Amino acid sequence: AKASLTTDVCFYEEAMDEAVRNRRRMVQQLREALDQDQFSLNWQVQASVETGEITGYEVLLRWIRPDGAFISPADFIPLAEESGLILPIGEWVLRKACAEAAGWAAPHKIAVNLSPVQLGHVDLPRLVHQILLETGLAPTRLELEITETAMISDMERTTHILRQLKALGVSIAMDDFGTGYSSLSTLRAFPFDKIKLDRSFMSELDGGPQSSAIIRAVLALGESLAIPVLAEGVETLEQLSFLRDQGCTEAQGYLLGRPKPVADDLIQLEARTLW
Ligand code: C2E
Ligand code: CA
Ligand code: CA
Ligand code: CA
Repeated sequence: AKASLTTDVCFYEEAMDEAVRNRRRMVQQLREALDQDQFSLNWQVQASVETGEITGYEVLLRWIRPDGAFISPADFIPLAEESGLILPIGEWVLRKACAEAAGWAAPHKIAVNLSPVQLGHVDLPRLVHQILLETGLAPTRLELEITETAMISDMERTTHILRQLKALGVSIAMDDFGTGYSSLSTLRAFPFDKIKLDRSFMSELDGGPQSSAIIRAVLALGESLAIPVLAEGVETLEQLSFLRDQGCTEAQGYLLGRPKPVADDLIQLEARTLW
């Protein structure tokens, strides 16, 4: 029994070493990705539920390695956050997104995801201000998406930063609403311009009255607070018509459009209504 314990421990340590080495390798690759231009942006359309009019585009980061491998942001963003690389990467996303959108023929809004680390570690209002000036993007075209994780650590400091950002003229959306532990108190802490209902509720919608009750409750909440609600992850016409019946403001999801490296002409083409 003693021998096997020792073997187990050795195996465990080896596995740990392996994990640490893998992380280090991936962090190194992330650094190279930034230096060597391996990142790109995808855009996913958002539209009015009532009219089908395009209301904006969410910017989603893409990493394709030189060997052709596609790494999901769900996998590399956490590592970028731990290593601090999210700061230069996030700045790159913001600058690139604003620059691209500033050149579009149709002046749609763009929504950029912000990591809680960015809110905590840089003078974000100054950076955003600088990038807006640099790219010439109208502040009203920029929306910043934050999750409640950003609020939890230091609510007072975070709301102060968010207020400074709003003073620039940009708007603030609460992302992944309903997935955390303190969604409601987060809503109370800051006047968000939009609530993005997490897509998990949409996928559960076909599962029965429970999930539809939650969606309806969030929509009622948004209505009574006068905050528009965008439903994420809309994949079927049934989901869309449910949202329309319930008075949801906006929708985003594969049904409306997949994220894509959209170009100027495509945007122009889409400067019509979706339904
Ligand atoms: P998110 O902010 O919740 O972004 C929405 C995710 O849902 C995207 O995944 C999008 O491709 C996916 N999605 C959109 N419509 C549908 C649908 O109808 N069905 C399903 N099943 N999925 C849908 P993606 O692009 O893989 O991004 C994952 C997460 O990575 C994002 O979740 C966000 O948290 C993070 N992320 C992406 N880009 C950035 C970025 O530039 N900065 C930061 N900090 N995080 C980012
Ligand atoms: Ca988002
Ligand atoms: Ca989301
Ligand atoms: Ca999410």
